[in-house]
Amino acid sequence: MLIPKQYRCTHSATCACTRGHLSEDAIFLVFHHLNWNPRLIAKISCVCKWFDDIAKRVLWKEFCRTRAPKMMLDLQSSGSHSVDGNWKALAKLLIYCSGCSKRLMFSSRHIPGHFVYRTRFSKTSGRSFLVQQCRTDVLYVSDPCEHLDQGEDGDLGFFRGVFKSFSVSTVRKMLIDRGAKLHPTEICPYCKAKTWSMLQAKMVPDSACSRLGAYDDCIDYFVCLNGHMFGICSLLPLSDSDEASERE
Ligand SMILES: [Zn+2]
Ligand SMILES: [Zn+2]
Repeated sequence: MLIPKQYRCTHSATCACTRGHLSEDAIFLVFHHLNWNPRLIAKISCVCKWFDDIAKRVLWKEFCRTRAPKMMLDLQSSGSHSVDGNWKALAKLLIYCSGCSKRLMFSSRHIPGHFVYRTRFSKTSGRSFLVQQCRTDVLYVSDPCEHLDQGEDGDLGFFRGVFKSFSVSTVRKMLIDRGAKLHPTEICPYCKAKTWSMLQAKMVPDSACSRLGAYDDCIDYFVCLNGHMFGICSLLPLSDSDEASERE
């Protein structure tokens, strides 16, 4: 059927929209008014390629800047890091606990991911996840999302984070220098890139466990090629971890 020309999408010949679109400025104002609501951004990006493009380029970026302004300023402050094009992944990282697949070592079963209302990310915390030689790197890590009473797995904690300028980080260099292999199955839940297991690379410092209140040998985390990290640990019972922090 021939669609009258004036109703065709004005942005792309392949677009399914038949009524044309609002201007980019109008979309910006509407979503600003909606405080960059992530569910609506996700919805609108499914409408057509043009909306998907504006979501990736503008809306997710503004979402990140509004939810974590200081962190975003810092991540962008180095010219060598290109967050551009990866705003969607970063936005998901801010609001999505990835759970874990069955393959991860401390979990006997699949624990589905879920959205979280608000998470604190800290680079002071991130430093605890870096081996001594890599402490000049900047890594933001969240507080653990606690999944308590997971049957035989006990209390599990999931955490996630992101490196600043990962392409020039000491961690990436060390992984490559050590010939660390990319994990065969575990992919980044945020950008779908391949990952390294930091446990396999023997790059998990003890400080990570004390930071999380986790058992010493029950932690692993993965870093993807784009510098996102996500991990799992087995949490100490509350009373034990209180004692552990008193000993520090
Ligand atoms: Zn969670
Ligand atoms: Zn990633």
